[in-house]
Amino acid sequence: MELNAIVCVKCGAPLQVPHEVRFVTCRHCGVCLEIKQTESVVYATQIAQIDQRTERIEQQLEQMNLRRELELLDSDWTKVGSKLDADPFLMMFCGAMIAIAGLIVAVATLVGQSGWGGVVTALGIAGVGVFMTVSGIGLKRAFLRGENAYVSRRDRIALRLNQLSAALGSIEGEITT
Ligand SMILES: [Zn+2]
Repeated sequence: MELNAIVCVKCGAPLQVPHEVRFVTCRHCGVCLEIKQTESVVYATQIAQIDQRTERIEQQLEQMNLRRELELLDSDWTKVGSKLDADPFLMMFCGAMIAIAGLIVAVATLVGQSGWGGVVTALGIAGVGVFMTVSGIGLKRAFLRGENAYVSRRDRIALRLNQLSAALGSIEGEITT
């Protein structure tokens, strides 16, 4: 864990604070500090107790909402995604088999000179097979797009939840000895 070294603005005690933590309570004097960070400097400012409480309540609410959203997102994707994933493959496979069979029959009919009617019918069946395969590919691409959207949305929520639990979790700075 990356630690930032700061100094308590009230009592001057040196504190070590995990990098992602925004608020700490000084162990020495009990003051509430907000950790601020510029590109080169990390420093602490004293904040009013009431602001900190309000912020914590807001963060807890956001955390609850995000957890709920994550649950819904997961259960939706489990239902829709698994269905979309299984069907295209079957369609592509059956379509390809039908297309190949249709073509073989068409060629055999042509070679055997059994009349154009048979050739046209066999080619028609092959066409249905090709259509099924193309539809299957379209569905597969829709599945992949949906999966991408699901994964990136899930990542965003998970990232925010991590930030929130870091902010709500360890809020006591440790005094450097
Ligand atoms: Zn202090």
